[in-house]
Amino acid sequence: MTYLYDEDFMQYAIRLARIAGKKGEIPVGAVLVQNKNQCIIGKGWNQSITLRDPTAHAEIVAIRQGGKIIQNYRLLDTTLYVTLEPCMMCTGAIIHSRIQRLVYGASDTKSVNTKTVLDIMKQHKINPRIEIKKNILAPECASILRSFFFPVENNKKIPYNLLNVINIIHKSNFNIGYI
Ligand SMILES: [Zn+2]
Repeated sequence: MTYLYDEDFMQYAIRLARIAGKKGEIPVGAVLVQNKNQCIIGKGWNQSITLRDPTAHAEIVAIRQGGKIIQNYRLLDTTLYVTLEPCMMCTGAIIHSRIQRLVYGASDTKSVNTKTVLDIMKQHKINPRIEIKKNILAPECASILRSFFFPVENNKKIPYNLLNVINIIHKSNFNIGYI
């Protein structure tokens, strides 16, 4: 099966990522789509700070909404679009939800992510049918993150707490693909 709309759905995920950024959340967006009819059943952006929930990553928010929409805990025959390569927590959720395809934009090369999604899938031979497509609109996806973490404008406009986060990230050698 060919998927003609990968870039369109990723564009939508990018719009969601921008919502997160405007709210002071790390700008990542996710869209969950049913393959058979190309219908969006879930959307999300990072809301961990807003909801005071460390698990409220964009992917988790979209996955939870999708389950409610289709009234099923298994999200068979769906594609999850994410602007940034999923973390290990979200990779686990993707595996458990039986999502068929994962399409992501920028690669996450930060040091704490010791293994990439692909590594985890291959090493553990989990859900081998999952199809992974990466680097879709990667420069745009990475650009949003880069603007968030490395703003060129006056740093005085950035809340003090966020500056702290940026400093910690710098010290931990945080790196995002396509920077
Ligand atoms: Zn995550």
